[in-house]
Amino acid sequence: MNPNFVNRRKFIKLSVAAGASIAANYAGVQAAENVGRKTVAMPERILGRTNIKLPILSMGVMRADNQAIVRAAYHSGIFMFDTANGYQNGKNEEMLGEFFTGKKRESFMLATKVKESVGDDAASKFLEKFEISMKRLKTDHVEILYYHALSRPEEVNFSPVVEAMVKLKEAGRAKYLGVSTHSNEPGVINAAIDNGNYDVVLTSYNFTQSHRGELDKALERAVNAGLGTVAMKTMAGGYLDREHTRKVNAKAALKWAWQNPHIHTAIPGFTSFDELEECLEAAAHPELSEEEREFIASTSCQHGLYCQGCKSCIAQCPEKLPIPDIMRAYMYNYGYNSPMLAKSTLLELNLADHPCRKCASCKVTCTNGFQIAEKISDITRLQYIPKDFLV
Ligand code: SF4
Ligand code: SF4
Repeated sequence: MNPNFVNRRKFIKLSVAAGASIAANYAGVQAAENVGRKTVAMPERILGRTNIKLPILSMGVMRADNQAIVRAAYHSGIFMFDTANGYQNGKNEEMLGEFFTGKKRESFMLATKVKESVGDDAASKFLEKFEISMKRLKTDHVEILYYHALSRPEEVNFSPVVEAMVKLKEAGRAKYLGVSTHSNEPGVINAAIDNGNYDVVLTSYNFTQSHRGELDKALERAVNAGLGTVAMKTMAGGYLDREHTRKVNAKAALKWAWQNPHIHTAIPGFTSFDELEECLEAAAHPELSEEEREFIASTSCQHGLYCQGCKSCIAQCPEKLPIPDIMRAYMYNYGYNSPMLAKSTLLELNLADHPCRKCASCKVTCTNGFQIAEKISDITRLQYIPKDFLV
């Protein structure tokens, strides 16, 4: 094991150590943060035309709820921290803002995401949310601002929001612009390339995706067009079953994603020191072992808890329910063990009470074989559970 990997014991030591410094690459400017930062050697890739050199491992902060894990990641050499306006009702951004207060701005990179539906007032609502994010993050700018959770080219090209984002970039409030996507990823990525205003794409990318041929082509095209590429959902839900008897091999899943040179960095959402250590070990030695190759080969056709985002279900449903998003909430709850995240995902969808109540039987045949109505009935109960009872 690499002696620089951070576990709880080493983290305590790192927290009290002072004086060592490292050079962090950021847009050609080298900066040092003298707070005992002891980095793990990880391969680096250039994030497209941003020219930012990043370790292949970044942090998806989404589910982390304490500064200790962020501190451990930072002190391990992780440079980019990815959050969103909606995560943990803003507490996620607040935690990052607290943690990074007083640290040299060049020693880390922040990415946040704002979600806003196409419609009247979308641009003003988007800007309002962005300003709230800045207050929580205690900063005047982020390195990457994503238009969040898009699945249609019309959203990517929705000019009121795109123009608002471009103005933020011109004002230096967002150094680079991006889109994030969990479904119809190839369509969204291709639209982002063609739009010309986006610098980075953040996409679901994992070994279980049935459309990865198409996705790989879109990523290659993005990189050739100069965009940076960031992978999320690399763990395909974390578990292959609701009962947690079949865990995804996290190292294998990450290494599989990094095999693609058109993925510049990945943002796994580790929430414990053990998970962080696992990710760091994978990044330090990104070649797949024989055992890891076998895991990928034997599980890549299993759908587990991960919805492919193919959207073929929506047309079949008379209520046109946002089934892929509901399935994502299901994965957050039963795969990530994060009912709070599942609930906030559901609340963003503005679902009616008991959304399937008008159907005597479900009309949807899911390409993954999911029992859709059953899963919807199960997960939407979370909407009625007070937040105080959830984690
Ligand atoms: S058909 Fe199944 S896999 Fe495809 S988006 Fe709908 S729920 Fe997900
Ligand atoms: S039961 Fe099936 S078809 Fe009916 S609303 Fe629910 S998801 Fe749609």
